[in-house]
Amino acid sequence: MRFLFTPPATVSVPVVGRSERFPVHRIYCVGRNYEEHAKEMGFTGREPPFFFLKPADAVVAVEAGQTGAIAYPGLTQNLHHEIELVVAIGTGGKNIKAVDAHKHIFGYAVGLDMTRRDLQGEMKKQGRPWCIGKAFDHSAPIGPITPAAQAGDVSQAEIHLQVGGKERQHSNVAKLIWNIAETIEHLSAAWELQPGDLIYTGTPEGVAAVVPGDTMVGEVQGLGTLTVKVL
Ligand code: MN
Repeated sequence: MRFLFTPPATVSVPVVGRSERFPVHRIYCVGRNYEEHAKEMGFTGREPPFFFLKPADAVVAVEAGQTGAIAYPGLTQNLHHEIELVVAIGTGGKNIKAVDAHKHIFGYAVGLDMTRRDLQGEMKKQGRPWCIGKAFDHSAPIGPITPAAQAGDVSQAEIHLQVGGKERQHSNVAKLIWNIAETIEHLSAAWELQPGDLIYTGTPEGVAAVVPGDTMVGEVQGLGTLTVKVL
């Protein structure tokens, strides 16, 4: 096959203990999936899960032990961090039941759903899509993927984020409103999941702004740390 121009390289994420990398297909994100974060965004009660996407090339894959870097994006004065547990899909499927969801999971990683909060807020107010607030270049930093068998019980894992050595976000994955299996059930009813899909499962409370020069250190117990500097 011949192309008009060189196709972009496949986006990929390193895998703990393996030389092969995880090729990224799509990035799905769950909105408002921890109660205390939903409250800080002005919502209460359990609503059905909802989803948005980021382009695969929004990924900034950070190698184990390295510090990643993202440029401070344009058009915003309020770039927020959202620390999240990321689920990496190894086996695709549609209409997956929650009880079978574990069979589709390759592994887990620590991710950041970077958000231009001011632009997202403006779009919400106008009833317009969130893309400009959520799906911008370099908006999806992620650390190495730990295969599920080596990850321990992530459903009870502590999740936290420090900026400049000060704690900003701290919670437990057990506090997800829609747990990992339920999220996969809902998501796979709307889209056919494919190997290579990443699911950012939502952020706990404590989201706040970063500025150029800040270094974010995120951690999910059992999955190591993700360090990203804002340039
Ligand atoms: Mn998020």
